[in-house]
Amino acid sequence: AQQMMHQWEVQADISQGLEQFYGTSMANQRFWPVTSGGLYPNLVSYLDLVMSKCRNGSSTNLDQGLINTLKSLNSFKGRICAQRQQVETNRSVNLQQILTMANQERIQEAISSQESCTICAEIILAFSQNKDLVIMNNCPHIFHKSCIETWLSMPSSQMVCPNCKTPCHDPMAPPPIGPMPDGDMAYIFSEKLGAWFICYWIPNGTQLPCHLSPGQPFKGTTRTAVCPIYFKWGPLLFIRLISAFYYHHTFTVGTSLTTNMSDTTTWNGIHHKTSLDGGFGFPDKTYEERVSLELDAKGVLLFLRDLVSD
Ligand SMILES: [Zn+2]
Ligand SMILES: [Zn+2]
Repeated sequence: AQQMMHQWEVQADISQGLEQFYGTSMANQRFWPVTSGGLYPNLVSYLDLVMSKCRNGSSTNLDQGLINTLKSLNSFKGRICAQRQQVETNRSVNLQQILTMANQERIQEAISSQESCTICAEIILAFSQNKDLVIMNNCPHIFHKSCIETWLSMPSSQMVCPNCKTPCHDPMAPPPIGPMPDGDMAYIFSEKLGAWFICYWIPNGTQLPCHLSPGQPFKGTTRTAVCPIYFKWGPLLFIRLISAFYYHHTFTVGTSLTTNMSDTTTWNGIHHKTSLDGGFGFPDKTYEERVSLELDAKGVLLFLRDLVSD
């Protein structure tokens, strides 16, 4: 753990010496095909745009934690904590917009037609040990409030009604929470390379209910990734990567495909560039498109794409 922490500190401080971290020839390379020429949006005004969109959009409801996280980007260097507990607290607020308390009429209907809560398989009763009954906003299905809230908070639920698969997740709303354990990321913008450098740190910990061996220990990791700003969407991809981390989608716990080690932290299907060149580096014409689709699939800030037009 000590060694991992040291490695994290070295990585998080790469601003002081890309040469040290990547080697001199690598750090001196101009690896992006075009200079930004000031064309990419100023990050501060870009964030203002995001925030104004959030205020005006009736259904958009980014949680305050992510907004604070995005605001911290103004410094071009910073550290972001992903704390599951914090996100889930925010999430319970958002769940209220997906669910409505069932009225007496709907409850009577459920009782007379012997509907059950399909999550716990109990028949719906008018007074079921003080369990609140709710209906989904996008379909008529009825559930115990605690049952459906637990279901919706699981990454596997994909924010759909468990009965009819109707999406109950407003595309403008925050993404569901992924399987990543809590961790930290540090970021720094390199003017010279025209790229964001991201350093992730997931400490060793105990596997969560959504992992293969809940309650068992898992091995953490430190990773460094690079995200150039010459992309079509400018800083957008970087912001979406931050959002992915904030909502716990960047990593998961499982068996490593490269080392075959089990109970270890692995990437979670959102591709990162861990080197500047070579087979896994740049140039890579389709990288942005691929990673955008991967982020879409996780429900990570779909709507942000609409903010920047061609
Ligand atoms: Zn139930
Ligand atoms: Zn339904």
